[in-house]
Amino acid sequence: MKPKKQFGRKDGCRRCGRKRGIVRRYGLHLCRQCFREIAPQLEFRKYS
Ligand SMILES: [Zn+2]
Repeated sequence: MKPKKQFGRKDGCRRCGRKRGIVRRYGLHLCRQCFREIAPQLEFRKYS
């Protein structure tokens, strides 16, 4: 499951594109908002 590298933005959320509050842990490259949305799906519930 390798993420596609279609997003040419640097350090941008790969879901919504915003660059603020990017969570680069786990190699997700998501802003905190998107991270919180998908976190439950990824079983990152510890993060809250
Ligand atoms: Zn986002």
